[in-house]
Amino acid sequence: MTDGSVKKLVIIGSGPAGLTAAIYGCRADLQPTVLMGTKYGGQLMLTSEVENFPGFPDPVMGPDLIERMRSQAERLGAELVQEDVVGVNFKAYPFEVTTDRRTERALAVILATGANPRRLNLPSEARLMGRGVSNCAVCDGFFFKGKKVAVVGGGDTAMEEATFLTKFATSVQVIHRRKELRASAALKKEALANPKISFLWDSQVEEVVGDGKVEGVRLRNVEDGSERVVGVDGLFVAIGYDPNTRIFQGQVELDEKGYVSVWGETQTSVPGVFVAGDVHDFRYRQAITAAADGCKALLDAEKFVKQKLELVSPSRG
Ligand code: NAP
Repeated sequence: MTDGSVKKLVIIGSGPAGLTAAIYGCRADLQPTVLMGTKYGGQLMLTSEVENFPGFPDPVMGPDLIERMRSQAERLGAELVQEDVVGVNFKAYPFEVTTDRRTERALAVILATGANPRRLNLPSEARLMGRGVSNCAVCDGFFFKGKKVAVVGGGDTAMEEATFLTKFATSVQVIHRRKELRASAALKKEALANPKISFLWDSQVEEVVGDGKVEGVRLRNVEDGSERVVGVDGLFVAIGYDPNTRIFQGQVELDEKGYVSVWGETQTSVPGVFVAGDVHDFRYRQAITAAADGCKALLDAEKFVKQKLELVSPSRG
């Protein structure tokens, strides 16, 4: 369909970052093509009620929110393509982005492929996801007012989530597989000093217990192999994230954890390739911050494309 033609902008990814970039891209007359992926929408597609996205006084389901963003982008004229990107070539210019069916060439590209929370990979975790098992304290903590919760993990995310959850929960038990926390000194200190937080060391979650909703966790002590069930109403799995950057390896600079390295707000190591959302942002990771990031990336891409077009035909201004 696009043989021989060069797009002004290709966006890879269709969560709030990619779709916001698409909405702004249409308004900037960049006629963006969004390579959405076959399983489009990102983490919001796995979220139930969203209560913290401005503009929705009543809770909105995560997939409904994505659907609204998708149809807004479509109405404004974005080309939405439900195909998986299998490779990119940012050493060529125009840049090349290849799916299993086509290669798009573009003056600018926005990377918005997101990140996936790591899972314990337990069948009981999957069964009770959204029924007491969560990956996001900021999103779901409110539902655990006056309840007992546990957080799995020993890194910065786990400490932040545990501390945040003490606003709502009566007690927060941190389950960590070692005796030492990986978290940075400040976050560790804050969590260790919080009277509502206690620690279950050398413990691995073997099963999330509950029929229809979380009632507890079965833990195994990794030192002596003993098992016990701890009663909780919620389990927050905070064992890290995996950014979706495999296809960008060797094309843009990635940091030691695999996130896209960023200069300023949205610039990658390749001029003309911009980044937005969780694929570079391991800190905020909210739908609203990803959306804001998509807007910023687009505004930067717009300037870049304008300069390129002016170079080609200066008289048109
Ligand atoms: P992380 O640093 O990779 O820590 C993951 C934690 O989960 C580790 O304690 C790890 O245990 C544990 N874990 C991993 N797989 C597990 C499994 N299958 N079962 C049980 N436990 C498991 O991830 P993160 O905490 O999400 O942080 C990611 C990055 O974002 C880091 O660079 C962090 O500094 C940054 N971050 C910064 C902030 C901030 O500055 N405010 C906030 C959040 C995150 P082990 O320790 O035994 O490996």
